Amino acid sequence: MEAVRENSVTQAARSCGMMAAMPTWIDTHCHLDAPEFAPDVDAVRAQARAAGVQHLVIPAVQVAHAAAARSLAHRHGDSYALGIHPLYTPQAADDDLERLAELLEQQRGDPHLVAVGEIGLDFFVPGLDAERQTRFYRAQLQLARRLDLPVILHVRRSADALFKGLRELPVPGGIAHAFNGSLQQARAFMALGFKLGFGGALSYERALQLRRLATALPIEALVLETDAPDMPPHWLYRTAAERAAGQPQGRNTPAELPRIAQVLADLRGMPLQALAQQTRANALQALPRLRASAE
Ligand SMILES: [Zn+2]
Repeated sequence: MEAVRENSVTQAARSCGMMAAMPTWIDTHCHLDAPEFAPDVDAVRAQARAAGVQHLVIPAVQVAHAAAARSLAHRHGDSYALGIHPLYTPQAADDDLERLAELLEQQRGDPHLVAVGEIGLDFFVPGLDAERQTRFYRAQLQLARRLDLPVILHVRRSADALFKGLRELPVPGGIAHAFNGSLQQARAFMALGFKLGFGGALSYERALQLRRLATALPIEALVLETDAPDMPPHWLYRTAAERAAGQPQGRNTPAELPRIAQVLADLRGMPLQALAQQTRANALQALPRLRASAE
């Protein structure tokens, strides 16, 4: 009797569309080409898919990674971006910018190529040459302009300098990834056509300012990302003491995205399914070429 009743409830729910399908997600920033994933990359991708992460954006961080990012994106039906990350500018050769320009021009017709990135400025890590970073950043904004591609930005203590570049060399928007600035800076990025990327950093209860920001911003401004293998959410994080006692730092993977999304859904008091749909639409708006493979 019980079974019959449940069955009819289930049927009724399904017929009026109440049976929500499992939410599907886009991880807008995942370094699947990182050496940490080399031993088991296909299993990592499969695990993410099983968790509902339908699509990944893989931003290369140096020219030497371009081929790997592209072939991974092709192999799994994902997307990629090509760029020179500010933390990789010390070891970049001067002609890497020319090589990057050639690759972008060759691959401009590839529907899996969705942006120039990861590029940007990092004024947090000591010892980086600000002038060199800025030169690489501006040259890559020029490439994005020439090829009419959005950019994926690394922002760390550098929002104002990034704005200066974007105002002088406007690009077709993109994503400010792992955003952790002020509400005012967030609004300035939005005004320049950018979405703001949020990930595992939200999962830390102490991240009050970041949590406030993720709650205060209009939902249309947000995209989700893991930045895997970096930025482990709190459930993977090992303290210095735990590491000293022999527990390795947990490796972040794209399969963590739904649980990170749940944190954001709870903070904003919205259903997970609605968050999935809205952040997907936002990602497609920020990176329009995602439509070719993520839809
Ligand atoms: Zn990154």
